[in-house]
Amino acid sequence: MPSSAPTAILLFYCMSQLRQSVLGATSIRFAEKIIKQNCLNSTRPNRFKSNDEFLMKRMPRIIAFASGKGGTGNTTAVANLGTAMAQLGKKVTILDADVAMANLGLMFGLEKEEISLHDVLAGGASIEKATYTGPAGVRIVPSSISLEEVRRAKLEHLKEAVSELVKRTDILLIDSPAGLDSDAITALTLGQELILVVTPDIASLSDALKTKIISEDLGVKPIGIVVNRASDKSMDLPINQIESVLDLRVLSVIPEDPEVGRSISLRQPLVICGPSSPAAQAFIKLAADLLGLRWRVKPKKTGEEKFTLWPFEERKKSR
Ligand code: ADP
Ligand code: MG
Repeated sequence: MPSSAPTAILLFYCMSQLRQSVLGATSIRFAEKIIKQNCLNSTRPNRFKSNDEFLMKRMPRIIAFASGKGGTGNTTAVANLGTAMAQLGKKVTILDADVAMANLGLMFGLEKEEISLHDVLAGGASIEKATYTGPAGVRIVPSSISLEEVRRAKLEHLKEAVSELVKRTDILLIDSPAGLDSDAITALTLGQELILVVTPDIASLSDALKTKIISEDLGVKPIGIVVNRASDKSMDLPINQIESVLDLRVLSVIPEDPEVGRSISLRQPLVICGPSSPAAQAFIKLAADLLGLRWRVKPKKTGEEKFTLWPFEERKKSR
C-alpha cells in the first residue's frame, strides 16, 4: 500500500488481510481436525439424539461466551450479564467452564467454597451441590482455582452436568476458556448460541474469528459481539471494521471503566456494587436486549449524564 493512503483505506486493507490470513491459518485447520477427530463423534452433545429428549422438551436458552484471546473480559461479561438478567426477573445460571483457569467464582467470593464443578466432573458430587445462589438470585457454578482439582476433572462429564442444570433455569450462560484446545471446544459445544467478547484491537479480532469459525463448524450459532474495554476512539478499531472482520453484529460496546476493578476486589458484580457506572449500565442494557425487553434512557433530574434502565413493563406498572 502506498504510504500516502488515507488511514481509513489502510485500515480496511489491514482488516481484509487479517481475515484472509486467519481463514488460511494452519492453527484453525488444526482445531478443525481436533473437532472432527474427537468432538463430533464423542464429546459433542448432539441435542437431537433420542437420549437427549429431555433437552428438547424443555430447552432453556444456553449462551456460550468466548473470546479466543484471554483477558478480553469474558468472565466479567458472564458475571455481570447473568446477574443483570436475574435482576430483570429471569432464572439464570452461570457456569464456569474454564476449568483450567477458573475465576468466575472469584468474582462472587466463592473461591473458599468446598464443592465446585471440579468435584462434579471428578464424579464425587451432584451439580446441585456445586451450585450457589448469588446476588439477585443468580445461580453460580464455580470451578475450583486449585491446580490439583484441575487434574482430577474429567471434561466428558460436563454434558451430563449441563443437562441437570438446564432443568432448573431459564437461561444458562457459559464462561468458555480462551484458546482453541479441546477444553475450549468442549465448552463451546454446550452452547446453542455464542457471543464473542472482544477488545477493540487486532489481536483480539484475529483470535475471535477463529473461535467463530470453529463454533459454526460445531453447530453453535454466533449471535453477536460484545466489544469490551472500549476507550480512546482514535486508538480503538472502529465498530464497522470489527463487524466486517467477524461478519457479525456488535450487540454492545462496554467502556473501559475503573469500577470493574473495584467490583472484583469487592467480590461483587459491578451491576450490584456500582449499577450506575458506565460499564454496569452497558451490561444492564445488553441483558435487557438479550431478553427481548424494551428499555429507555431516563435522564437524571439534576441534568447530569446518568442513565437509568427503565423497562417498559415497569413503567406501565408504576403509572
Ligand atoms: P477473561 O475472562 O476474558 O480472561 P476477565 O473478565 O477476567 O477476562 O477480565 C480481565 C481483566 O480485565 C480483569 O482484570 C478485569 O477487571 C478487567 N476488565 C474487564 N472488563 C473491563 C472493563 N470494561 N473496564 C475495565 N477493566 C475491565
Ligand atoms: Mg476468564
